Amino acid sequence: MNEVTKKISSRVATDRKSAIYLDHHATTPVDPRILAIAVNAMTSEFGNANGIENVHGETAAALVARARQQVADSLAVEPDEVHFTSGSTEAIQLALAHAVARKGGVLRVAMSRVEHRAVIDTVCHAERLGLAKVFWVNVDQHARLDFASLNAALDQGIDILCVMAANNEVGTVYPLEKIAESAQAAGAGLLVDATQAIGRIELSAATVSWDYLILSGHKIYAPKGIGALISQCFEPSLLFGLQCSHQPTPNVAGIAALGMACQIMMEEGTVESARLSALRDRMQEKLIALAAPITVNGDEGNRLAQNLHVTVPGAPNDMVLARLRGRVSISTGSACNAGAQEPSHVLLAMGLAPDVAETCLRIGLGRFTSDEEIDRASIEIADAINDVRKILSGVKNA
Ligand code: PLP
Repeated sequence: MNEVTKKISSRVATDRKSAIYLDHHATTPVDPRILAIAVNAMTSEFGNANGIENVHGETAAALVARARQQVADSLAVEPDEVHFTSGSTEAIQLALAHAVARKGGVLRVAMSRVEHRAVIDTVCHAERLGLAKVFWVNVDQHARLDFASLNAALDQGIDILCVMAANNEVGTVYPLEKIAESAQAAGAGLLVDATQAIGRIELSAATVSWDYLILSGHKIYAPKGIGALISQCFEPSLLFGLQCSHQPTPNVAGIAALGMACQIMMEEGTVESARLSALRDRMQEKLIALAAPITVNGDEGNRLAQNLHVTVPGAPNDMVLARLRGRVSISTGSACNAGAQEPSHVLLAMGLAPDVAETCLRIGLGRFTSDEEIDRASIEIADAINDVRKILSGVKNA
């Protein structure tokens, strides 16, 4: 490590120790209970789950089977519907590649304008390759799905509808039962990106029927690098490149961790969400009291418990984040495109002007966020907003 990277690395380490982490939509820390399972799978039960000719392989295969069951139970599906991936992006790409291969012609895809980039970019790329045609579904100012727009798209003859379970920026939760009914009535399949929602909202194959459902371990306190595609219809053999007699060696530690993460979410998700929504509401009240004017974005009546997304007029979010650096970790939600920040496509789809979108902050609470941290962070964030406003009004009046 050279002197420059050493310096950056020690600064980041210091920042991390003292900063309050409120960016849980981006990723979550590993829960110690899940860590213990992963470490055990790496150190004691470390066999090759494909090599079941000895006790080490058998033990590892049993870990994978148990995790598969845990993931399946959390969604009321059969274990053979669980296909492990490296995360949500890979699961999305596999699902869409499978849908294209299954169609055998141009795939007609309807998708909401507020889907994650992993969905939008994959579908748009397929469209550029002549493999898909996109039909956009609009949202309202709270990022709620516009059903008139959805039905108009479905009337065009759609193969697959892509709608997320909950939005990763403003937290709006989507009425999946109703959406699945509309898709089914129109003969369309459904891809549900449940990356942010899994374990946080009621989600079960008993009430919603989907073709593909996507989840990722690092959003639910498991390590990065593990996720799953949940699908009854997915056949890897349909995909060129996956027609291989060799089964890849499973990521046993990641898979075991994901199984445990899903089980904890199933057992504790409701209580955790109740605690976090109360904490989030407390932070919302404090911020409004300390740094008005502030507008809350997303569907206040139906958003993820840990999500607080606000517009802070007069305070560009990059300046606010710079003042919070090393003290509170939150985010802007902007898309980073080749190093350049662009206003969030979600906020633009909700009708916010680009300059307004650049005054938005995304705050994400998590399992280990304490009351004391929320009180401290509220003051820090409010002070940063007020400082930036003061500086800019001074510049304007100078
Ligand atoms: N979908 C949503 C809604 C997300 O929030 C994310 C990550 O932020 C992804 C997909 C991609 O997930 P992963 O990081 O597991 O590839």
